[in-house]
Amino acid sequence: MSILRLTIARFNKTWMYLKNYAYSQNLNLECACDVILDPLFKFVDKYTIVLGQIMVILVIFLTTFVVVIAYWIGLPYWWNNNKLLTIFLLIFGNWLLVNVIFHYYMGVTTPPGFPASRSLMYYDEVICKKCDSPKPPRTHHCSVCNKCILKMDHHCPWLNNCVGFYNHRYFFLYMMYMTFGSLFIIIFGAEIVFKEVFFREEDPDGHPVKVNTSLSKTDWVLTFQDEYENINFDYDRVAEWRFWCIMVITFITCGVFIALAILTIWHSVLISSGETSIEGHINKFETDRLNAINFKYVNVYDYGIKMNWILFLGLHSGRGWRHIIFPSAHKPLGNGYIWPTKNDIFEVFYNEKFKT
Ligand SMILES: [Zn+2]
Ligand SMILES: [Zn+2]
Repeated sequence: MSILRLTIARFNKTWMYLKNYAYSQNLNLECACDVILDPLFKFVDKYTIVLGQIMVILVIFLTTFVVVIAYWIGLPYWWNNNKLLTIFLLIFGNWLLVNVIFHYYMGVTTPPGFPASRSLMYYDEVICKKCDSPKPPRTHHCSVCNKCILKMDHHCPWLNNCVGFYNHRYFFLYMMYMTFGSLFIIIFGAEIVFKEVFFREEDPDGHPVKVNTSLSKTDWVLTFQDEYENINFDYDRVAEWRFWCIMVITFITCGVFIALAILTIWHSVLISSGETSIEGHINKFETDRLNAINFKYVNVYDYGIKMNWILFLGLHSGRGWRHIIFPSAHKPLGNGYIWPTKNDIFEVFYNEKFKT
């Protein structure tokens, strides 16, 4: 009801503005479009926050569902086939799971980085018109959070958080580990799905039937039949549940794998070029614009592929691969306010102005 009331109130407000503008001498199409679209944007921004909370619950629910099914169906299946392989799968699968949980939790709970106050400004020439905060290089205003975000990448509804300077690495590694996790389930679940769909056994061997052999032979036959029928009824219900769980998990993991594999590759390309998602658009636009007048656009934050990845993953100051393959809460180098250009990048490792 509150959504309906809000929509009606917004409509009335827009209608009033439009009537005011209609009497105005300065009415033009651009102005009218702004008036019409403004409440729409505000409406979308407002409900993106609510949607974000629902999506976080959905991510936690679906991940838990997939893990429970993997333990319920996958673990006994592989344990009966190959015990040594199962031990390896348990270790490998849980390593992926720990990384997925850690990076998701950190991505959701780590603030992306806000240019807090004017007192911290290094260059005071740029101020955000929307939130009145300083706007250092690579900072953009998020209309959902209604704040400026340091090195903003995008507002992610799946994290219900903006992706920026302090949580960009968590966001990327979450996507990467989730892609590997889905692939892991697909590879080691494929045989189970295949057998379940194409070789669904009508009356499989091995289900438990209790027989009371202490009775006389006539009673024994009757007892066996009774028990068999009861247990078979339960077995059919469990088999039906099992079948649908396998179908749902197949759908979820394949969908997540395709979507996240594409996104991970896309973000890898951006990180290799020293760009955020927003800068990817801006840089493409500038490249085309300058190409048209025979100039070459240079991204001053592109330090070369290797250095871009070292800085993005924080693999400096003695850190190495174990800080990627195991959860690590290290912060990115710098403060998100001052950005070295490609010409003074090596200063970043010893010049204090980049660190404080
Ligand atoms: Zn702002
Ligand atoms: Zn945001």
